[in-house]
Amino acid sequence: MIQVIYYRDKCIGCGSCADIAPDWWVMDEQDGKSTLLKSVHKRNNIFITKVEADEVDYFVNSSDSCPIGIIEVRTC
Ligand code: SF4
Repeated sequence: MIQVIYYRDKCIGCGSCADIAPDWWVMDEQDGKSTLLKSVHKRNNIFITKVEADEVDYFVNSSDSCPIGIIEVRTC
């Protein structure tokens, strides 16, 4: 299983993730941070979603593009 963990508190709103994978990331007009769609809020603004193997590239690319490294792609 592949999980994506997103530490939303630290987002600086650069928009890279939403440019790369707009089906998964949307910029919030209210606070300027990115929102990970179809995710579950765990605690302290940490969001997690499960990803199918054929979608993982979107998240790896999003993670690589994030200037502060707050998108983690983890194989469990
Ligand atoms: S790439 Fe990182 S810092 Fe930029 S909007 Fe996405 S989560 Fe936020």
